[in-house]
Amino acid sequence: MQRIGVIGSGTMGNGIAHVFAQNGFDVQLIDIKQDALDKALSVIARNLDRQIAKGLLDESGKNATLGRITTFTNIPEGVANCDLVVEAATENKDLKMKIFQEMDQSTPDHCILATNTSSISITELAAVTRRPSMVIGMHFMNPVPVMKLVEVINGYATSSEVTETILDLSRKIGKTPAMANDYPGFIANRILMPMINEAIWTLHEGVGGVEEIDTVMKLGMAHPMGPLQLADFIGLDVCLAILNVLYTGFGNPKYAPCPLLVNMVNSGNIGVKGGNGFYDWSHGGKELIVSGHFS
Ligand code: NAD
Repeated sequence: MQRIGVIGSGTMGNGIAHVFAQNGFDVQLIDIKQDALDKALSVIARNLDRQIAKGLLDESGKNATLGRITTFTNIPEGVANCDLVVEAATENKDLKMKIFQEMDQSTPDHCILATNTSSISITELAAVTRRPSMVIGMHFMNPVPVMKLVEVINGYATSSEVTETILDLSRKIGKTPAMANDYPGFIANRILMPMINEAIWTLHEGVGGVEEIDTVMKLGMAHPMGPLQLADFIGLDVCLAILNVLYTGFGNPKYAPCPLLVNMVNSGNIGVKGGNGFYDWSHGGKELIVSGHFS
């Protein structure tokens, strides 16, 4: 396995490209938007500089990593000759189904098709391809270069050879894999998203403010950051999409997204990437919003 395609160069795609390239793989990074690709390359360069500042990398390692990444704006060209493609495009089922069909048509037969989806069924994505046994979930955590976990999700038809290959590959790129089966939210988001949703309800009902809720979870539960800040990092649009998958997948009202989350996404307040969420990120750091519309 040498050539890795990564589809989508947003928050997750650039991190996935970074990690594979740094571990010696040739990466073909694909996005429909040229400016997303340009931004991804500059984010990767900045994150490599951070590693240099920490003494984890030198300048030649940085140049070699960047030299292994080629960018494309079209999927068929970008995935041709790949041994593995990791899809990390926007969390939308119809979009991912279309991308999986394109991947299936344009990659060699031996190519494994993986998705970084947070919650969409691997089995359903596999079913639109001619190779369901070679489709698997490879769920990286944000920020990818820092976080050790890869949740490896077996679809209903995923072969044990493919699972073993992806578990080995995850270790080769310095990650620790944990295996899950294909049910809504898998392990990570089945547990995380109801917690974030409950934190938003707690805010919405006025039980506590943004700062208080995050402080309780940080200092009281030893979480490295509070759930509202984490939601801002993940993207409130992504959180809403995952909660909707849990809600419809289980048909259980306990997963219904808090109306405040829905309102915030509809008004464009989607967290760090949009400049505003539970906190104001528009000045480059985290600032409390004094008169937020959180009730
Ligand atoms: P993002 O919005 O930051 O980036 C998505 C990228 O996909 C954009 O650059 C967009 O232009 C691109 N895209 C859209 N349609 C495309 C197409 N047809 N072909 C190629 N590129 C296309 O989203 P993200 O946060 O990076 O999330 C990507 C995936 O990773 C989602 O499935 C999400 O659920 C999952 N994920 C996100 C996080 C997180 O913390 N954000 C964590 C784990 C997994």
